[in-house]
Formats: sequence, C-alpha cells, structure tokens
Amino acid sequence: MTSQHASTEAVPRLANIIPRDSHPISRSKISADALRVLYRLREAGFEAYLVGGCVRDLTLGLEPKDFDVATNALPEQVRRLFRNCRLVGRRFRLAHVFFGREIIEVATFRASGAPPQGDEVVLEEGADELAGDDEAPVEDSRDVHDFDESLDRVVDQSGRILRDNIYGTIDDDVWRRDFTCNALYYNIADFSVWDYANGFDDIKAKRLRLIGDPETRYREDPVRMLRAARFEAKLDFSIESATAEPILRLRELLAGVPPARLFDETLKLFLTGHGAASYRVLLDRGLLDVLLPNVAAFARRHPGSAPQRMLVQGLANTDQRVRADRPVTPSFLFALLMYGPIGLEIEKRPRNEWHEISTILDAVDSVVREIYGRVAIHRRFILGVRDMFALQPRLEAPRGRRALRTLEHPRFRAAFDLLQLRSEFGMADPALVEWWTRLQAAGPQQRVTMSEALSRESAGADNGPSGGGRRRAGRRRGRGRGGRGRGGPAAG
Ligand code: ATP
Ligand code: MG
Repeated sequence: MTSQHASTEAVPRLANIIPRDSHPISRSKISADALRVLYRLREAGFEAYLVGGCVRDLTLGLEPKDFDVATNALPEQVRRLFRNCRLVGRRFRLAHVFFGREIIEVATFRASGAPPQGDEVVLEEGADELAGDDEAPVEDSRDVHDFDESLDRVVDQSGRILRDNIYGTIDDDVWRRDFTCNALYYNIADFSVWDYANGFDDIKAKRLRLIGDPETRYREDPVRMLRAARFEAKLDFSIESATAEPILRLRELLAGVPPARLFDETLKLFLTGHGAASYRVLLDRGLLDVLLPNVAAFARRHPGSAPQRMLVQGLANTDQRVRADRPVTPSFLFALLMYGPIGLEIEKRPRNEWHEISTILDAVDSVVREIYGRVAIHRRFILGVRDMFALQPRLEAPRGRRALRTLEHPRFRAAFDLLQLRSEFGMADPALVEWWTRLQAAGPQQRVTMSEALSRESAGADNGPSGGGRRRAGRRRGRGRGGRGRGGPAAG
C-alpha cells in the first residue's frame, strides 16, 4: 500500500454543484445529531458537509447506516466545539462526536499526503480484543512517528488551512475516496450536493465506478476490491467493467492486508443485511478464494452439498434477522462458513471417532487456524464457534438432568439454532429439534419431568450416549445423508 495519490490526473477538478431542488436529499431524512454537528461547525465559521455512504444512500432513498461529516476544521478545533467528542486514529485523526449510541464521525479534509481512508484504527466496542489477538498492529514505516498537527501547515489569518501535508481542502479530499457514488458532498450551507466525479449520475444508473485508474486504486488499498463486492451486493449496483476487470488479477493483494482489518470487512460483508448476496458476489468474483480460502475451496468442490445449501440458507436467515433489528453474532456466522471445512477435517479421522468432542474441537481449531492467517476472528467468537460445535453431540444425545444443564449453557441458543438448521438439511434429526423446542417452552417442573422421562428411557436396553426409546429415530449414524455421526458435520 502506498499513500501516493497518482491516480486522478485525468479527472477534471471542478465540482458540479447540484442545487437543492435538483436532488432528493431532504433534511428530514438526516439524523438530528448529524444535523446538529453540521450546523455547529457552520456557525463556528467552518465548512461542513455530509459525505460518503450516507449521501449515496439518501440519494437512493435508503436509510443510511451512519453519517459521516467532512470539514475544514482541524480535529482539535472540532474537539473544542463539542463536549461529547473524542479524537481517534493515529495516522489520521478523526473526531467522533457521541450522542448516546450514535457516533457522528467528523473528518478533516485529507490532502494527498494523508494516509488512505479506511486505514485508521478506529476503536469500537470490543476492539480491545483486537489488540489482544494481534499484538503487532498493522503499521508500516511511514507511521512509526506520530505526526504533529502544528508542523508543516500553512494557515491563513482566519485560521483556514491553505495547505498541509495531511489536511487539505474539499477538492483534495474527493480524489482520495473510493467509488464515485461515495464521493458526493452535501453542503449544509445551502443544501446543495457537490459532485466532482459524476457520482450522482452513476448512482442513478446503479453503476459502481472507482475514481481514477482502477489498478492504481486497488494497489493503493486492496480492501477496495472487497468494498466493490460489498456495494455490488448491498446496493445491487453493477460494477463497471474497468473497475471489475483488475479484481481477478489483483485479488492476491488482499493477502497483504492486516487480518484485523479483513475481520472488520468480513463482518460488514456478512452481518449487515446482505450476507447471502455478498457470498454470491465474493464467489463469482473470486474474492472468497483469498479472503477465506478453505471456505471457497469447499464451495467449489462440493456445490449443492448439504453444508453448502445450509450456509446459503443460514446467511439468508441472518439477513432477515438484521433487517428485523434482531441480534446476530459473528460466532454463528463463522460456524456457518466453517461448517463444510470442519466436516472435511472430521472425516479425516476414523469413522468411530467422528462424534467425539475431541475430534470435533480439533477440527474446529484446525479450520480456525487456516482462517486466522487472513481474517483475525476475535477470540471470543472463536470460543463461541467451539462451544456451538461441542454442544452438538450433547444436543443430539440429551441425557436426563444433563439436558437441563445444557439448556443453561450460555451458548445453548446459538448451538440449538445450528442444530435446527442442520436438521433442515438432513444433517440432524428433526425429532430432536422438536424435543428441545418443547423443553425450552416448558416450565421448570415440566422440564424436570421431561428430562427424567429421558433418563428412564436411557436406562433401558440401549445404554449408549443417545439412549433408547424415541431417541432411536435420531440414530442414523453411518447411514444416509445425515449419517456422518451425530456431532460431526456431514459433507453431504
Ligand atoms: P456503508 O454504507 O457501509 O457505511 P460507506 O461508503 O459509508 O458505506 P464507510 O466505510 O463508512 O463506507 O466509509 C465512508 C466513506 O469513506 C466512503 O463512502 C468513502 O468515501 C470513504 N472510504 C472508506 N473506505 C475507503 C477506502 N478504503 N478507500 C477510499 N475511500 C474510502
Ligand atoms: Mg458509512
């Protein structure tokens, strides 16, 4: 990656200013907090624009995920304007203005010497784990020293920055953005939209186009390839051919991106309501093969297999949950993605060991290890995946009071959801799903009765782990589609 900005020579440096009556962006659709930030900056004499995905989404009539502000105020000046403000990012400082749960990100215009967008370390909830998992943060020789905002800057009498190594003006800033659709600025001064890169027309045509020379832009920051896939999936845009063409040639560059950043991108791809579409696009564009090589290899070798179909269905279910504002967890996502590869690992062992917990956990660990070189899954989510898989044999062989303890396990719900999904694809017994569903719905006394009934059954002729009686229906070990052992995922 380089911070050189060599790619925009051919682009005219004049903004097309779209007046309020010629674009659809209404203040009623902008978050009140974002408006507050914009007005405060403006009252203090600064320029203030909404920029990026929020302007794009508002133009499309979609509800933006978050609101980003660009300004000529320096980070320190922004901080002085807002009490609820924190500066983040080491290589390029950004201001985060907090309003309860909403954070408005305020970035000073970047000059060509600034580090690329998307490169700053932005601390989010739980991001401390990132440091824990990855003790060598991702930096190269350019950022060993913290920059000093007071150096090398030309400021005019009113304090306006004229030129800076890091900070610039709006028309420096625009050329550093990735896609034309992400490079519109909504000016709070007169509610016009500033469009330097023909983004407005591209949005209307649902066209995804990189600003500048695509190969250069991908080399500057290979994550832009994943962002292209994400916007294709999320917005149903078509990637313009010059922007699409280099991806297959350059995709290996993603291997050089810090795994912590790829983890963040992976969550954005799969956990923001368009995961099923992202999966399809990533496979079609050959990007999954570099992001999650073992997941892609399974998909290519076992198309139409039960784990494969389950993954697609699971992603679609996850999308629905996101849209309904219900919680989703990265553990479940990674359990889905890894299911096929884990099954293959398990099948390397002798068949009679397939349902042993140690076999299952070894398989999980080995698949996680392969992924971890590319995508640094936070530790707590890895533990979640291990628990979900380790609980499968216990869910498939409920035994007396132990079933009640399983019910109390913090990861029971996720494990049960996985069991249910497996059963939909012939990889677990639906009768078991039904039994656990009843157990969950039952009151405390009834739960004891149900589990004791199970104990009595288990004490019968078959004293094996999954007991006798009604449980027998579920024991198809070694046979048929679901016959890969109770705990062991089937490669189907
Ligand atoms: P989303 O809807 O997912 O928030 P977004 O376009 O807002 O999409 P962000 O990651 O929030 O994406 O980034 C905000 C803006 O910053 C982008 O619209 C783009 O202008 C710029 N940007 C982000 N990442 C990059 C990058 N890697 N290279 C160039 N510009 C980027
Ligand atoms: Mg955004």
